[in-house]
Amino acid sequence: MSEQIFDLVVLGGGPGGYVAAIRASQLGLKTAVIDENPVFGGTCLRVGCIPSKALLESSHLYDEARSHLGAHGISVNGTVSVDLAAMMKRKTQIVGTLTGGIGMLLKRAKVTAINGRGTLQANGSIAVSSSGGPVSTVRGKNTLIATGSLPMMLPGIEFDGVYVGDSTSALAYDKVPERLIVIGGGYIGLELGSVWSRLGSKVTILEAMPAVLGGLDGEIAKLAVRIFQKQGLEFRTGTFVESARRTGDGCQVVIKGGETLTADRVLMCAGRVPNTRNIGLENLNIQTDRRGAITVNEHFQTSTPSVFAIGDAIGGAMLAHKASEEGVACVEMIVTGHGHVNYDAIPAIVYTSPEIASVGKTEEQLQQAGIEYNKGVCPYGANGRARTLGDTEGRVKILAAKTTDRILGVHAIGIRAGDLISEAAVAMNFGASSEDLARCCHAHPTLSEIMQEAALAVSGRAIHT
Ligand code: FAD
Repeated sequence: MSEQIFDLVVLGGGPGGYVAAIRASQLGLKTAVIDENPVFGGTCLRVGCIPSKALLESSHLYDEARSHLGAHGISVNGTVSVDLAAMMKRKTQIVGTLTGGIGMLLKRAKVTAINGRGTLQANGSIAVSSSGGPVSTVRGKNTLIATGSLPMMLPGIEFDGVYVGDSTSALAYDKVPERLIVIGGGYIGLELGSVWSRLGSKVTILEAMPAVLGGLDGEIAKLAVRIFQKQGLEFRTGTFVESARRTGDGCQVVIKGGETLTADRVLMCAGRVPNTRNIGLENLNIQTDRRGAITVNEHFQTSTPSVFAIGDAIGGAMLAHKASEEGVACVEMIVTGHGHVNYDAIPAIVYTSPEIASVGKTEEQLQQAGIEYNKGVCPYGANGRARTLGDTEGRVKILAAKTTDRILGVHAIGIRAGDLISEAAVAMNFGASSEDLARCCHAHPTLSEIMQEAALAVSGRAIHT
């Protein structure tokens, strides 16, 4: 059996792996990327970021047409209705276009794209098997593991992929469930819960912890819950699910204490775990932590020096852009000896309505670390553009170091907060102070003026609040 030899072989073609492969090729490495799926793009493009945002947009438009156009003096004659099959088709087309595009990008970058399941071998090569086809082997002078993550399953959950399913199931329901129970109040549960709630489901979110959206700034998370409750989402925190299973045409969920809830569908969104089992780590003695995240040093190097790992497979924030940044930094380190990810300035966005966006430290983290800070807040209600958009709920909060005024964290909830946060992330990457942001001229009328006002508010100089 002949073995193909490359400078770098990337295992996993998600936003971590395919981006790393293209950058490696740009840097002159003969590169291959392996993915077990027929298309590249990983969780993000196939069953994550992209399809969820497509459904969020469609369901948002439905909600707008049904409930909010009247305020603009626009009436929709007749009833507004949903063609779920058409909505799903649009989503599938977007995914198809984007995954097809990744194939083209790999080809243009002269990266060898290999379809099949790869397993690391003790001799350093990777055995690649595709269904029905012969097993081939590829070898890289260096290997990069980017196998991503999988939904976490809890004991007692009788997963069947349809009635009791995960985010992938909820991206493809064939009808709107009357009652939907979401297990887990993280960002994926809230996004998909919002989609189905807008389309007509009665959604209940069960969260074992005392609060949902753990990890977000506490004040922003509390405000978010109040807004989502007004939208009809029901939250039950401190609620530990003991079992969930299909019962005929519906589902039954038992929570600790014995209470039984029923629903048409159950969506398991209790987090994701690194996808590092059955990929042959044991053959090379590659170390993982308790959750299965591959242990790496600051060069993304595993306990085997020629094997590197990035993205969801190494834990940390499970975000597509974090995986891509790590992919680029890792191959730049391999080739040039230098590469860097600024973990203090990685933005995170929840694409609900309103959006929730953050970058940097929360108030809770600063307090815990004993770091003194000043805070500037601007409500959306003080902004002219928000008024014209008819969406004034929310705020932007900037946290800056008391001694230096350097921006340490920015947290926002409100319409298009996800777009606003880029400015904060750029500012933080350049080590900006709140004064720097406040002194930048922001166009009027734009939502970005909320960021400027919040920056002015840090030193008590806000004009419009
Ligand atoms: P992945 O994207 O998981 O890619 C890994 C790839 O490796 C997969 O294609 C997998 O099939 C393949 N693979 C695994 N093992 C093997 C093997 N042995 N052989 C061959 N191939 C293998 N993140 C955001 O930043 N923004 C969002 O809005 C967002 N929304 C999300 C919504 C949902 C519903 C979900 C589930 C996730 C979302 N995420 C979002 C998270 C994001 O998708 C992940 O953080 C990101 O995809 C991780 O990239 P990765 O390259 O590390 O892994």
